[in-house]
Amino acid sequence: MAACGGCNKKSNTQKKKCPLCKKLSGSIHYMAIRPVVKEDLEKFVQKDNYYICNNADCDVVFFNEGEDIIFLTRDINMAANFQEVSKNHTKCNKGCEDCKGG
Ligand SMILES: [Zn+2]
Repeated sequence: MAACGGCNKKSNTQKKKCPLCKKLSGSIHYMAIRPVVKEDLEKFVQKDNYYICNNADCDVVFFNEGEDIIFLTRDINMAANFQEVSKNHTKCNKGCEDCKGG
């Protein structure tokens, strides 16, 4: 399968299995998570490696390297700009396999 230039950025190829659904989840910068989690949960977003699960059937949205911090869909502030992490939108519109609904 050819790599997609739209969603597999060179600087961001780290992947880790989701602790719940075991699908491969791409890494995401912790500063990108802070604005979308609920206010009282922001303090749990530490400087760490975080991953985002794109599986729409999975409750996990973000989890950290040690898998001791896990944000579920109910922990996400839907009022925030969720476009970046929305499970209902494909990340890029190039139509490559990697982007289709995970
Ligand atoms: Zn998952």
